[in-house]
Amino acid sequence: MKPRFALPCLLLLLVSCAHREAVPVDLLVENITIVDLHDGRLLDHHHVAVRDQRIVAVADDREAARFRATRTIDGKGTYAIPGLWDMHVHFGGGEALVDENRDLLPLYVAHGVTTVRDAAGDLSTQVLQWREQIRKGELQGPTIYTSGPKIEGKGSIWPGDLEVANETELRAAFDQLEAMHVDFIKITDSALSPQLFKAALAEGERRGMKTSAHVPMSLMLDDVSAAGLDSIEHMGYALKAGSTREREIADASAMGKLSYRDALVQAADSFDHDTALAAYRKLAARGTAITPTLYGSRVTAYLDQDDHHDDDYLHYIGPGLKATYAWRVERAAKDDADAIAARHRVYEMSAALLPLLQEAGVTILAGTDAGFLNSFDYPGIGLHDELREYVRYGLTPLQALQSATLRSAAFLGHEGDSGDIAAGKVADIVLLDRNPLQDIGATRAIHAVVLKGDYLDRAALDALLANVRARVHARETGTR
Ligand SMILES: [Zn+2]
Repeated sequence: MKPRFALPCLLLLLVSCAHREAVPVDLLVENITIVDLHDGRLLDHHHVAVRDQRIVAVADDREAARFRATRTIDGKGTYAIPGLWDMHVHFGGGEALVDENRDLLPLYVAHGVTTVRDAAGDLSTQVLQWREQIRKGELQGPTIYTSGPKIEGKGSIWPGDLEVANETELRAAFDQLEAMHVDFIKITDSALSPQLFKAALAEGERRGMKTSAHVPMSLMLDDVSAAGLDSIEHMGYALKAGSTREREIADASAMGKLSYRDALVQAADSFDHDTALAAYRKLAARGTAITPTLYGSRVTAYLDQDDHHDDDYLHYIGPGLKATYAWRVERAAKDDADAIAARHRVYEMSAALLPLLQEAGVTILAGTDAGFLNSFDYPGIGLHDELREYVRYGLTPLQALQSATLRSAAFLGHEGDSGDIAAGKVADIVLLDRNPLQDIGATRAIHAVVLKGDYLDRAALDALLANVRARVHARETGTR
């Protein structure tokens, strides 16, 4: 029987040899320089092959001939970085603003933000629905990870929270969040007691859910880190932990003798480099990360110098969302000269902590706080503003980019799946016209975005932007 099969077998072998040179893929982007964010190496003359939304190969262009692609792109002159992550965004402003919030999704995509971490608002049902629709490819947008509604005390100042008064209600809230399959737990303390706050951290630990929070000023940062907090939102808490008087400030806050702002001014007055570094090293050792959200704080701190009324980006934000900006603007307008000076000082000192946190080994997660309420902190472009602040205050462009890619994915436990340009990862890639390691401003020079394997060239991105602009215009002029 053997000879009878020899010829067909040989033919089969020849055929498969010939076709070994032509693996079918959906997308092949050739002739690009890959910016390796692990170490800052530039890999020029490389290609990325994509099939079924995933990167299947990243290699030298000499090997590109083995692919037969449905779409081939010559990326000559461009620098490829992983799709960017904004680790602190919000969707909200009430049911009436669902459409305006949905229109933020293309703004993220058009600015290379392919993943967002939603840190709660009052549209959780919608956000959870968008998360699923985007996952299934029914809606175009960044991959969404969400906390769902956040945990607070009774009478929270924030809309849409799960308000709890005791540990039984706290556990019920966790049950509810688990049933929603939220990606992490967000906790804030406008009305939550420090005891319940710590109980929430313990519950998160018990259930293996990541926690992310505004930290009660009455607690020591080291204590909440030890209790299992995974990410600190905003920099004020790090400033307080760098004070030689952290305990006194915490105690005065506990007794209601210090406002949040006064606590920060006192922390700035008593800040000490070595105290801070030691405190941050403890955070690093315990794996507590921080999301600085600098840009939104800068905008609010410097509203006296720039009221942003002329920002072109306002044309991309719906009128209802813009109306929510008034809250912070009106509060800032009440400040006298001393309060304004304090605002500037607290901002400058907080921002200057970044290189110290980095030196201590704390994981920094790039996040903007963009969405509703946070005036002129714009979804999409805001991440580039945020990264510019990181470099302005002392991170290298590489460190800034790591915070918005590798670190963010790893924080949420998705480092095996995304946040990097490597075989097996989700094909979220941004092609830039310039090298972002030389100038972080290059992240704005977006040539194209690959969104889960979908190649969106400059014209497609501009069309997304123009479409949002037109919809905003229609809402403002009452034609929609
Ligand atoms: Zn926020």
